Amino acid sequence: MSESAQLSNHVVLPWQSEQWQRLVDAKQHNRLPHALLLTGSVGLGKSHFAHLLAASLLCNDLQANDIACGTCQACRLLQAETHPDYTLIAPEEPGKAIKIDTIRAFTQRGSLTSQSGGHKVIIIEPADALNTAAANSLLKTLEEPVERTVLILVTANAGRLPATIRSRCQQYHFTPPATALATTWLNNYIKGADTALLLSLASGAPLLALKYTADGALAERTQMIEELMAILKRVNSPIGTAQRWNNLDQGNVIKWFSGWVIDLIRVKIASDAAVIINIDQRERLQALARKVNSRKLYALLDRLFEANRTLSAQLNTQMQLESLLLDWADIGVE
Ligand SMILES: [Zn+2]
Repeated sequence: MSESAQLSNHVVLPWQSEQWQRLVDAKQHNRLPHALLLTGSVGLGKSHFAHLLAASLLCNDLQANDIACGTCQACRLLQAETHPDYTLIAPEEPGKAIKIDTIRAFTQRGSLTSQSGGHKVIIIEPADALNTAAANSLLKTLEEPVERTVLILVTANAGRLPATIRSRCQQYHFTPPATALATTWLNNYIKGADTALLLSLASGAPLLALKYTADGALAERTQMIEELMAILKRVNSPIGTAQRWNNLDQGNVIKWFSGWVIDLIRVKIASDAAVIINIDQRERLQALARKVNSRKLYALLDRLFEANRTLSAQLNTQMQLESLLLDWADIGVE
């Protein structure tokens, strides 16, 4: 499910209204940047914002607050992803690089100019997937902007983009909304679910919290915690557990596992006052924290961070998981 899949292209998310207003003002004063960089963590609606802007730039019948109408011919072409002046540049496969040929195909002089005499919009997402050659090729375009052509770069990892690219874009940074706002918004979509827990697990990012309910991530996390506990009780083996986890999304596996170890460290240090991620598991964490070895916990957390950094390059995830879980099995000796 993409971030924008279940959101209307015609509604500004309540925590993005300030950024939207800034854009509308710029547009009305003819100061719209030719390149924008949308940054902030996963699940804050950067992709939604990019599509909202694309629709606004292409629509022939703008509504209040410069929101696209959704019904004119341009809007219908955009919804069908066949608008000649709209291009989405993404990796051929998720997790892979955006290559120079892809950028070249769109930076040829002709294809950068609008077909209809209006705006031309190009979204690059995730922009941190650009490999070095592709980034260099894009840089030339950024240095020689084409009138009425707007490039929108979207990334949750702005630090991975070359500084030369970042400095040529106007940055719009998104941060998690206040808990009350996020909770109210989330309750429009999920009734009766544990929104506080979901938001905590999603670091306050509302769209990520929503995704967790849709793809069963919450149940997956709970099962993983039970399996970690079963390893400590010598009921489950680290090897067997690694085998099962190897079939899951590795990004989630490392995230839930790290979150659990981080919580244990926090509870061990700050005891009752600890701010934790797994807020439904506080009692269990407190009981466990008394029995685990701090030095081993920190060492395991370092290894989990390293595993997260090398996620896309990891060839033998099963072997890595076995090794991490063997360390976990040995965590209890003080
Ligand atoms: Zn329209």
